[in-house]
Amino acid sequence: MDNLIICDRCGSDACYVDEVNQDIKTYFCYGCGFQTNSLMVEDGEFLSQQKEILPELYKDLFHKDEKGKVWMPSAINLHEKGMIFANGPSAFDWHWSAVKSVPVKEEEKHKYPNPKKPGEHYKFRMDMDTIKNFSEKEFMDALSYIGVIPE
Ligand SMILES: [Zn+2]
Repeated sequence: MDNLIICDRCGSDACYVDEVNQDIKTYFCYGCGFQTNSLMVEDGEFLSQQKEILPELYKDLFHKDEKGKVWMPSAINLHEKGMIFANGPSAFDWHWSAVKSVPVKEEEKHKYPNPKKPGEHYKFRMDMDTIKNFSEKEFMDALSYIGVIPE
């Protein structure tokens, strides 16, 4: 990947930058699992919208870097792979939780209807039995766990 820079939050060299347009860049750090973009600034409209929908823990984990960007934990949700989210009672006591998705079996299809496509069923479901916790710095291990990147 050629768009990797040093992360302004954690200092790792695994921060992926994407230029959406002239004014907006998105940042996704594989080192710490946090993300931000050019619109995520204090008192900004985008950030106040995020505050309305984000869980408390995500808001508690907001981190403003030296350049004024506000970072938040990412949330991964991939139907055929699994999900990763920040989990825990507080910003001082949290971890990443990763859950694998598994194929829906023939006999349980009725339990997983696809609301967007009447008559069809989801092919995968999140299997909460597979939930595994990872520390903040182990975000990449969590990605491997659900099969997004090779082990
Ligand atoms: Zn980082």
